[in-house]
Amino acid sequence: MRETIDIIKQWIARQWTVCKPWMQRQWKRFKPWIQRQWKQFKAWSIRLWHLWTDPDNRWLSVPCTMAALLVLLVLVKCCQGIAYNFTNECKIYKLGYPIDEARALAVVLNDQQADSLIARNVHDTIAYPIINERYFIADNFDRYLASHRADTTGAPVSDIIAVVNVGLDRDPDVSAVQCDTSKGRLMLINRYHYLDEKYKPKKLVAFKTDYCYENQKALPDVVDAFMAMQQDCKRQTGAQLMVNSSYRNYKQQTATYKRNDKRFVARAGFSEHQTGLALDVTSLQHPMRWPFDKSKEGIWMREHCHEYGFILRYPKERQHIMNNSYEPWHLRYVGIETAKRIHDEGITFDEYYAYYIEREAK
Ligand SMILES: [Zn+2]
Repeated sequence: MRETIDIIKQWIARQWTVCKPWMQRQWKRFKPWIQRQWKQFKAWSIRLWHLWTDPDNRWLSVPCTMAALLVLLVLVKCCQGIAYNFTNECKIYKLGYPIDEARALAVVLNDQQADSLIARNVHDTIAYPIINERYFIADNFDRYLASHRADTTGAPVSDIIAVVNVGLDRDPDVSAVQCDTSKGRLMLINRYHYLDEKYKPKKLVAFKTDYCYENQKALPDVVDAFMAMQQDCKRQTGAQLMVNSSYRNYKQQTATYKRNDKRFVARAGFSEHQTGLALDVTSLQHPMRWPFDKSKEGIWMREHCHEYGFILRYPKERQHIMNNSYEPWHLRYVGIETAKRIHDEGITFDEYYAYYIEREAK
């Protein structure tokens, strides 16, 4: 780096020794002319000033001021017009976008994103609908466009946004990262976020036998919330919700994965059960998972679990934007406030995490 600077310095010095005599000659040649022009300009300015400020010429001062202001305004406008040509808004507008769309895109996109949009040299009709989507994240703009181009199913823009936000446009085998466990009960585990082998919840509490089939444990808040939910469900439906699987360590998850249908079981490290925040729930009346889905207590749980801080982690309606199949039995504890928000907005936890936790942290 230093060598490059030295070379540039030497080059400038060489150029200067060549240019200096020439510049001196030119200065000598033009100096009288410049001095003459300057004198004339000064004389004209003084004359004009006198004319303007002379009390006898009061009638002139108003139109002169107006004219000066007008000239100034025209100059400012001209400069603004020239500068506008170099703005992203103008460049986008010139591609055929309506002016309000160009303006909105220029505000939302950073220079790099605007440059790549402009470089395509076409009016991309999806660009404006994308930035107006409810869960639009500016950093993902280029990926939204790429996903839309790659889509052959005619997916709505809202789905394109959701798919990219949760990372489904990427290969999990390549882009999986370690889970940020500092988020506590809001930590995200999916095919893109994993826990290491050693991760263990800080404190695990056992469920009483009325609440589970066999020897189940979870974090204390999760156990309390489930007990409250089970009692209310029993009062309202007459059926008894039961936990049939809860905390599983890495080793147990490996065994579960080997034993079961791979559609419904995550690989070790990629399972929420390792956090102590997830429960698989059915009922005494419907111990099998699928009839439970249609049972009145299954429906009750789906409709009310958010009131206790749980969410149905893999809902039927959002299967197309998850890397998981629908699981009517799998609850995840996130706390009442978050659970209500997820329920009210009809999104998955992955979408919630991308929009409300990751985006807001940036
Ligand atoms: Zn589960």
